[in-house]
Amino acid sequence: MATLIKNGILITASESFKADILIEGEKIKLIGQDLTYPNSEIVDAEGKYILPGGVDAHVHLDLPMFNTISSDDHYTGGKAAAFGGTTTVIDFVPQDEGTLEENINRWHAKADPNASIDFGFHMNITRFNKEVAKEIFSLPDMGITSLKVFTAYNGRLRLSDGEIFRVMRLARSAGLLTLVHAENGDVIDILVEEALQAGNKDPFFHAKTRPAWGTVEASLRAAALAAQAGDAPLYLVHMNTAGEVDQLTYARDHGLNMMGETCPQYLFFTENDLRREDGAKWICSPPMRSEADNERIWEGVANSTIQVMSTDHCPFFFDGTKPIEYEGKLVAIPGKELGKDDFTKIPNGLPGVGDRMPVLWTEGVVSGRITPNQFVAMHCTNPARIFGLYPQKGALIPDADADIAVWDPEKEVHYGVGVAQHRTDYNLYEGWHLKGFPVMVFLRGQKIVDGENWLGKPGMGHYLHRHEGEILV
Ligand SMILES: [Zn+2]
Repeated sequence: MATLIKNGILITASESFKADILIEGEKIKLIGQDLTYPNSEIVDAEGKYILPGGVDAHVHLDLPMFNTISSDDHYTGGKAAAFGGTTTVIDFVPQDEGTLEENINRWHAKADPNASIDFGFHMNITRFNKEVAKEIFSLPDMGITSLKVFTAYNGRLRLSDGEIFRVMRLARSAGLLTLVHAENGDVIDILVEEALQAGNKDPFFHAKTRPAWGTVEASLRAAALAAQAGDAPLYLVHMNTAGEVDQLTYARDHGLNMMGETCPQYLFFTENDLRREDGAKWICSPPMRSEADNERIWEGVANSTIQVMSTDHCPFFFDGTKPIEYEGKLVAIPGKELGKDDFTKIPNGLPGVGDRMPVLWTEGVVSGRITPNQFVAMHCTNPARIFGLYPQKGALIPDADADIAVWDPEKEVHYGVGVAQHRTDYNLYEGWHLKGFPVMVFLRGQKIVDGENWLGKPGMGHYLHRHEGEILV
């Protein structure tokens, strides 16, 4: 079965050019001018852009949190991603009871039968001991080439600085990349306790109890630990603070292999959104900051200091007592209402996996802040390279997986929860006017999105056995 996409303009991380693409089976077979192929399905892409399917390197699907669970699983989250042009996600395996391998197998049992797009795993290291140290070396055999550590969430997810140092050193010798969630857990705990004692329980205090300085300090601390661990490669997740861009620049200027990602929510919203009546919708960790922070993050995006746009997709219902209709069935999952009287009980997280590419196309490319090639670099190619999926993913070249988004630059969309396909009851970009939208999406040669029609199925997505990633600095 072959598909020939004709007359589109291919957009890669480095160039844009008009060409035809021949897909044979699951792969891109040929790229060239005036291609023909017997009995192929022809897609006329005149006036359209052809992008590699997006890679979202930071999602949380089917993740238990605060007596509930993130409302997108590996099927619904993959479907929402696909409608936004993304065909690969990397999810995080929590370190619960048992060995790392047992945890990974538990996550496979959830993801493998359900996934609707391709997926990989990062491993959280939130408990460290000799057995874990040994097991880190077997992660690459299980297709996992990145770890995540936390400097916050004391008593739950945080490792001590010494443990982080040990993990980084082991990761470096095992060929793994260390991801760090940078906030100051000690300060947060004190401020949260004080806020609750003073009766400050509304969502705004979520931001007030997680100060930006803690993030700036913890990101430099992580860089310094990585340096002392023999220049272990490091990746700063969800950059949200101006000072992090400075620390990332400082670390690189000093020769460290430090990379970073941000997420759309840190470009468009501020802590003031938490003051709204529906402020709980904006609760995520780390929180949104100020307009000055947004501006500095944009600068880091525009000058490519920040290499990756991810989402930290981890949706919850705003009002999980009211069902929504999803694929013809009523669904309600407890959500943000769990904390209506106390911000510390609001599940932390937002929908975003489907919003990422359409929103950034309009706000980044159409607005002239980044070029279409930078867009592809940040959303597709860089995450594939950093996380060991390139050139299978994130590339428009022969032998790459035929993951393709046909992008209509003229399509205008009045965006919101009615258009986005996340399994939740709200969208942060409600009422936004977007220009440029994916109109057809292929996963390994199979059409999964055709206009408004969903052609994907649970289990269509394959687990990606990742190899050692590249260091892009
Ligand atoms: Zn996350």
